[in-house]
Amino acid sequence: MTIDPAQLEATIREVLAAMLPGNGNDTQAKAPATQQEAPGDGVFADMDSAVEAAHLAQREYLGRSMADRRRYVAAIREAMLAPEALDYMSEQAVAQSGMGDVGHKYLKNKVAASETPGVEDLVTEAWSGDDGLTTIEYSPYGVIGAITPTTNPTETITCNTIGMLAAGNAVVFSPHPRVAKLSCWQVRRINRALRAAGAPDNLVTTVTAPSLENTNAMMAHPKVRMLVATGGPGIVRAVLSSGKKAIGAGAGNPPAVVDETADIEHAAKCIVDGASFDNNLPCTAEKEIIAVDSIADMLKFCMIKHGAYEATAAEVAELEKLLVNGDKPRTEWVGKPAAKILEAIGVTPPPGVRLIVCEAAADHPFVVHELMMPVLGLVRVPDVDAAIDLAVELEHGNRHTAVMHSLNVSKLTRMGKLIQTTIFVKNGPSYNGIGIGGEGYPTFTIAGPTGEGLTSARSFTRKRRCVLVGDLNVR
Ligand code: NAD
Repeated sequence: MTIDPAQLEATIREVLAAMLPGNGNDTQAKAPATQQEAPGDGVFADMDSAVEAAHLAQREYLGRSMADRRRYVAAIREAMLAPEALDYMSEQAVAQSGMGDVGHKYLKNKVAASETPGVEDLVTEAWSGDDGLTTIEYSPYGVIGAITPTTNPTETITCNTIGMLAAGNAVVFSPHPRVAKLSCWQVRRINRALRAAGAPDNLVTTVTAPSLENTNAMMAHPKVRMLVATGGPGIVRAVLSSGKKAIGAGAGNPPAVVDETADIEHAAKCIVDGASFDNNLPCTAEKEIIAVDSIADMLKFCMIKHGAYEATAAEVAELEKLLVNGDKPRTEWVGKPAAKILEAIGVTPPPGVRLIVCEAAADHPFVVHELMMPVLGLVRVPDVDAAIDLAVELEHGNRHTAVMHSLNVSKLTRMGKLIQTTIFVKNGPSYNGIGIGGEGYPTFTIAGPTGEGLTSARSFTRKRRCVLVGDLNVR
């Protein structure tokens, strides 16, 4: 996919603008009770009806051309990029989930709608020779069951819909119950846009009241041919045990290593930018820092300059009581702004604070567990090799995302080889790894456990070989 440099530049500007204090970072949101939605426009009262409708739609879709698919994808992009839709999705995602930052969600929604690869991702492979012509084409699975998270509710629906429909599938969504109302709104809007573009009805469906029972019914439905789970370890395990083709996009705990060769001020700014993005909700966001002792104080000094607050040992103890319960983050604090967290332990937040940094031991919960809060543990180690070894341990084999700030090519290589993450960002904020300010296309479904990596249309296909014997070799 070619990225328009002007568009990329505009996106980077928006990221930087969105990082500035006062740009939505102080959002307060309360999660209202889930409300039951009325059926219509792709939203069904029960899962069986949602799957059957998607199945019928996909049969009809098989008869449409690639040009049709391109038009439908364009219609989805347009519907999701309308300013009122971007505003609504970003505000409601924070209001309904109780997590995240409206400004950053706006940016993520915009990137998902404008830059998720479409039909162009399906590149045919071919062999020609004395025996004729053979092609490998990417073909649809049929109906896909997609389970989406609270942390990126609308971005994931947009990104999955574009990729899955570009590949010729229909999709049934099973969103998180906390964001049911917004997910139904989005499915309806997509269906109306598709209908206006001439697509079959119900290529994208969901249910009025998503629940674990409905997700289980979707996973077990014989007409659902592929499952895609974007979420934590429980749902990834569930789809992998389903007996169907499954893509698992699971949890991460991305370490950020900083060694003595790095540009420390740049590293500090990148870590604050990346780890405070959407209040640390992204699975890709820096979750702990491992700093070589000789530069650790300088790193903290520069992080404070760029919007971090360093908690004292006593404040770290208070934060631990507030934010975690054993090895589990307390849901009510997930994705909350740093200022609110500081206020809750009686600290007056410095103006523009975006992140709380807590120097801690390597086994501290702020280091070991994925909190999804703008609170990062920082571990001091004697040298870069110790930092890399600890990063590998703290990533827990998720093979998700890692970040390293270093100018030592052999150490960057060592970390890349040992940590085996799907995304490895060097000398930038973590969001550079998902196509925001870094080269490459974006995705909101990063499949480490099952190996598809940054999913796109071709991830949602079967490879099929067509063999024409003897002819059409014209060399
Ligand atoms: P979650 O696992 O609680 O929920 C994800 C989805 O799965 C929801 O729709 C939920 O209703 C459903 N679900 C969860 N357990 C289930 C079960 N046993 N049976 C049926 N359905 C089940 O996660 P969340 O809090 O919504 O999202 C945050 C998690 O997702 C984090 O761990 C984050 O790292 C991960 N995540 C990963 C990616 C990725 O691309 N790899 C992207 C976003 C989020």
